[in-house]
Amino acid sequence: MPNQEIQCKVINCRHNNKNNFCTLPNIEVGESNFEARHKKDTECNSFEPEI
Ligand code: SF4
Repeated sequence: MPNQEIQCKVINCRHNNKNNFCTLPNIEVGESNFEARHKKDTECNSFEPEI
């Protein structure tokens, strides 16, 4: 069941419904660098690759 509050385009994540939504009830977002200053410095820590 898609979580309509979380839009995501990472279609190679096992939690993505392939229609731009995440199916998890909540996610954790982290930083890819020490201190995020740009969008690209953030990342979804709930990502799991397709099996
Ligand atoms: S877990 Fe993260 S990367 Fe995966 S579909 Fe949900 S928001 Fe996207």
